Amino acid sequence: MAQSTLNPLAGKGMRFVRRVYAMRAIGLAIGFFAVAAAMLEAGVPRWLLALVFLHGFAWPHVAAWRSRRSEVPFRAEIQNMMIDAVLGGVWAAAMKFNLLPSVLILAMMSMNNVAAGGTRLLLHGLGWHLAGALAGIVAFGAAWHPQANLTTIVASLPMLVLYPLALGRTTYSISRRLAAHGKQIEANSRLDGLTGVLNRGYWEAMLAAEFQACKTGRRSTASLVLLDIDHFKQLNDTHGHLAGDEALKAFAALVMQHAAQHGTAARGETRQCLVGRYGGEEFGVLLSGASLTQAVEMAERLSRSLQPGTAAGAGIAALRGHTASLGVAAFDAGMAGHHEWLAHTDRALYEAKRAGRNRIRISAG
Ligand code: GH3
Ligand code: MG
Ligand code: MG
Repeated sequence: MAQSTLNPLAGKGMRFVRRVYAMRAIGLAIGFFAVAAAMLEAGVPRWLLALVFLHGFAWPHVAAWRSRRSEVPFRAEIQNMMIDAVLGGVWAAAMKFNLLPSVLILAMMSMNNVAAGGTRLLLHGLGWHLAGALAGIVAFGAAWHPQANLTTIVASLPMLVLYPLALGRTTYSISRRLAAHGKQIEANSRLDGLTGVLNRGYWEAMLAAEFQACKTGRRSTASLVLLDIDHFKQLNDTHGHLAGDEALKAFAALVMQHAAQHGTAARGETRQCLVGRYGGEEFGVLLSGASLTQAVEMAERLSRSLQPGTAAGAGIAALRGHTASLGVAAFDAGMAGHHEWLAHTDRALYEAKRAGRNRIRISAG
């Protein structure tokens, strides 16, 4: 087996590499002018200016290329950032620690480091700055000329203004993406993975809230329907578990379709209907604002559409002729809690099963 497939970090950080590439290309390009102005002021040799030019305009592309072809791009990118830190230190020494551009480039690089790897990477980066500065002192001699002339000050301004703006913009788009991602995760955590209806936990929480709304008079009425596919085990046994899964998906889609008709038929009081997977092949429909009669009508329509051989039943071939039993119960102010409401509905469902399946039973309360 190839080494790369064994490394759990392989391929990690491509998005990070793209982000750093953009920031480095902008930062080093505008930083070049600040450093070059200070170096001209310090009278450095031309070849050194040429090196700074290469760092500003060629290195960002080389760095990104190096990271992309690395097995773990994230790790390679961190190395690139440390290379920047060393060079920043060398340039600071070469421009005799001209205060404005030196602080500027070291502060911008430190900002990147802390953003990418927290305090640890910040400290690492500072260590590499120091190492670079010492190397620069060895190479060009120790000199201290902190004042900047007007040219250097003006050449530093684009970096001072534009780089924080670019960084802020990047941070903004990351936080936007994270917020959207968080919302998506939250929405998914409410859903049943197989059928896409609400999962039991969330559906039951909604039921409890609806019960409270009815109990306190915020809602005039609501009804509950429990549905259980008949002889579903046989379908699994005969056609396999995958066929069973397909049947569950088709059944859930059918229940949602019928329940949605109730929701859109709302007038006056806001009516919503919530479909949840209550158990393996058992589903619940909470019809808020629906009287018992309305809930039974919905249950009858749904049950009719499951009858094999009828036009309505033709669309759910995945159920292979399996029908469902349904129990219906309206909210009753005498109930102690939503569990009692569920128990009443479940009893009605059980009666439908006992009476021969493929039918609806209404809770007598
Ligand atoms: P009844 O008419 O009395 O409801 O009979 P039944 O066979 O439908 O009921 P039973 O409770 O005996 O069996 C339910 C079956 O549902 C058993 C279980 O394997 C199956 N099941 C539960 N969850 C899933 C699932 O996610 N996928 C599949 N394919 N089958 C499931
Ligand atoms: Mg069943
Ligand atoms: Mg069941």
